[in-house]
Amino acid sequence: MTDQHAPFEAPRYGTAFETLAIHAGQEPDAATGAVVPPIHQVSTFKQDGVGGLRGGYEYSRSANPTRTALEENLAALEGGRRGLAFASGLAAEDCLLRTVLSPGDHVVIPNDAYGGTFRLFAKVAVKWGVKFSVADTSDPAAVRAALTDRTKVVWVETPSNPLLGITDIAALSGIAYGTEALLVVDNTFASPYLQQPLALGADVVVHSTTKYMGGHSDVVGGALVVNDEALAEELAFHQNAMGAIAGPFDSWLVLRGIKTLAVRMDRHSANAARIAEMLSSHPRVSKVHYPGLPGHPGHEVAAKQMRDFGGMVSFQVADGEEAAVAVCDRAKLFTLGESLGGVESLIEHPGRMTHASAAGSALEVPADLVRLSVGIESVDDLLADLRQALG
Ligand SMILES: *Cc1c(COP(=O)(O)O)cnc(C)c1O
Repeated sequence: MTDQHAPFEAPRYGTAFETLAIHAGQEPDAATGAVVPPIHQVSTFKQDGVGGLRGGYEYSRSANPTRTALEENLAALEGGRRGLAFASGLAAEDCLLRTVLSPGDHVVIPNDAYGGTFRLFAKVAVKWGVKFSVADTSDPAAVRAALTDRTKVVWVETPSNPLLGITDIAALSGIAYGTEALLVVDNTFASPYLQQPLALGADVVVHSTTKYMGGHSDVVGGALVVNDEALAEELAFHQNAMGAIAGPFDSWLVLRGIKTLAVRMDRHSANAARIAEMLSSHPRVSKVHYPGLPGHPGHEVAAKQMRDFGGMVSFQVADGEEAAVAVCDRAKLFTLGESLGGVESLIEHPGRMTHASAAGSALEVPADLVRLSVGIESVDDLLADLRQALG
């Protein structure tokens, strides 16, 4: 059951991102010519005699053709040899951690990260004897200082959630090199269109495909992409052994979303830049966090390692927490909700919503913070809504 997972080969039609997004892993169906990979909504596959598998498929936890199409596509987009698709971003993270960590091992995690990632380390992994240190990963010296002789993972999220901090992936790759630590980059905020961590020296790319990859707020999914064949085999073994796979329909939805990833990211980035600029000069806003702004501390690193600055913008409201909550409540076109990366704009209060699990920890977020997932609606309509919400 491994031949359908041949490493992705550069195809006959070119390797530009936009082309791979639409075609990689998705040759027209051999049996019917269907241009889009069918949803193979099936659990088991007829064998031609005992052990006589057709195309390597036996049971859909181990492998399913629709998931294979997605996994090959993910590998191609991240420039990796192997992609693995999971039921959620956290399922992907959990599989990775349980594959590479043993009791007593140590991980370095960022001081700004998705709340659920922090919770996985702080509330789940610790029960299995995993130790962690929190470091400001935007400072390579701080990461170097946090390494121990048991460090197996350096975890990076860039841009980070919700403060849009930027970490220099190539610099951390240099620090992890020669140690046993894997450099893991959560690439959810950027997507592979804007940033390709493996090419910058990362060992593992993590995605919540729920966000920009799916792009339409209609599916929950996750992914891992790696280059090292031995690590890929270990991960694939655990993916099957633990079972938190992406189902056929969810795989199909993510594949469908990815086809438009490049054009969506261009519009998300353009709209977010305009909104960050407006917020920067708004009297009721005390601080804007957007890596595209020249004053952002990570601006130069972001400009070096990203194609554009993405669709996420956070800002602090001058009058404090209650005023920030009121802005969220008054927004109309920006829908009040968790998650991000869909075509529709969302607004939320991280302190009380997505990052409530980080309260009281080193990852606690400012109480006056508002986070925007800037969608691809008319930017004028989005600006007007924010202006009225700020009052
Ligand atoms: C949402 C998110 C996750 C978790 O993904 P799920 O699909 O919700 O399990 C991980 N990292 C980042 C940066 C996220 O935004």
